[in-house]
Amino acid sequence: MNLYEYQAKRLFAEYGIPIPSGDVARTPEEAMAIAEKYDGKVVVKSQVHIGGRGKAGGVKLAKTVAEAGEHAEAIIGLDIKGHITHMVLVDQLAPGGIEKEFYLAVLIDRAEKKPMMMASAEGGMDIEQVAHDTPEKIFKVHIDPAVGFKMHQATYLASGMGLDKSLWKQFGKLTSNLYNCFVSSDASLAEINPLVITGEGELMAVDGKVSIDDSAMYRQPKLAEMADDSIAPESEQRAKEAGLSFIQLDGNIGCMVNGAGLAMTSMDIIKLFGGEPANFLDIGGGANAAKVQTALEIILSDPKVKAVLINIFGGITRGDEVAKGIVGALEKIDTDVPMILRLAGTNAKEGLEILADANLPTAETLSDAATKAIEAAKG
Ligand code: GDP
Ligand code: MN
Repeated sequence: MNLYEYQAKRLFAEYGIPIPSGDVARTPEEAMAIAEKYDGKVVVKSQVHIGGRGKAGGVKLAKTVAEAGEHAEAIIGLDIKGHITHMVLVDQLAPGGIEKEFYLAVLIDRAEKKPMMMASAEGGMDIEQVAHDTPEKIFKVHIDPAVGFKMHQATYLASGMGLDKSLWKQFGKLTSNLYNCFVSSDASLAEINPLVITGEGELMAVDGKVSIDDSAMYRQPKLAEMADDSIAPESEQRAKEAGLSFIQLDGNIGCMVNGAGLAMTSMDIIKLFGGEPANFLDIGGGANAAKVQTALEIILSDPKVKAVLINIFGGITRGDEVAKGIVGALEKIDTDVPMILRLAGTNAKEGLEILADANLPTAETLSDAATKAIEAAKG
C-alpha cells in the first residue's frame, strides 16, 4: 500500500524528520485558506500515487494567495499518467528557498536480504535514471536488522553525498529517524526526493514516498486507515470483498485459476506462447458455483477480455465438484466470450466428462490450453 505524499510527510514528522508545514485541500478555496497562513508563499502539489509530478505540471510555486488558488484550480482534476488529482498539498515554501537537493531512501535489498539506505547528491531527479547513467553517484549501506542503523553509516553517506560537515550531525539524526520510521511502519520503501538544504541551512524533507508491506497491514491499523480504496479498480474491490486474489492486467486473456502458483504458471505459459493475460486471479481452495460465478463476472467485466482460460487443479477440492461449479456458473452467465478449460488432478476424468456433457471446450495440457486461448482471443 502506498501513502500519499502528505501522509508520508506526517509519518516522517512523527519520527522527528523535519518537513514543511502545510495541509491538504480539495478545492481552490481551501487551498487559498491554507496559503493565507503562509502569506501566499506556498507550493501547491498534486496528491497522486505516481512520481514525476513536477514535470507533469503537478507541482507549482506561488508567491501570493491568489496565485495559490490559481495553481490549485489548475492542478485539481489534472491527469498525471492516468492518475486524476483529487487533492493538493499546500506546503509553506522551504524557509529561505532551496540551496541544494539530495536523494535519500531506505528500501529492502532483496538480493542482500537486508534493508538498504541509499543517498545521492543527484536529488530531485528520477533516481532510476541516475542509477543507470551514473551509478557511482549513488551511495549505499546495508543495515543488519539485528544491529540497527549505525552513525558511521550515516557518515559514509554524508561524505559520499558531499554534505558539508556542519550538517553531518543533523543528517545522522535524520537518517536514524528515517530508518526507525521504515522499520516501525513495516515499510518496503521510505524515500525523500528531494531532501533539501534550506536557505536557512537546515535539512528538510520536501517530498515523501512511503510504501507499506501489505502483509503487515494487520499490525499497522493506523496506516491501514490511510489506505485510499477508491483508487483501486472496481473489479479489484469486488474481488477483495469476495475473498478472491485478483489483479487487473493489460492483456486480453482472462485467467481463472485455483492456487497462486498455478495462476502464475498459467500467466507465464500464456506469455510464452505470445499471449497477454488480462488478470491474475486465484479463486483459492474450493470452487463452488457461486465463487466461480463471481470470479467469471469479475473477469468478464473487463471489456478487453476476448477469451478466458480456466485452469483448475483438483487437489482437496475434487475435479468433478469443480466441474459442476463451472457448469453451474456458466449457466447463469450470459456471454459470447469463448472459454477454454483445463482440469487436472483428483477426479479429473469425472470432471472432464461433466464438462464434455455440457459442451464446454476442454484442453489436455496447459500448453494446449494456452494455445487455444490465444487462438480464441484473436477471434
Ligand atoms: P515529484 O516531481 O513528484 O517528485 O515532486 P517533488 O515533490 O519532488 O517536487 C518536484 C520539485 O519541485 C522538487 O525537486 C523541488 O525542486 C520543487 N519543490 C517541491 N517542493 C518545494 C518547496 O517547498 N519549495 C521549493 N522552492 N521548491 C519545491
Ligand atoms: Mn520528488
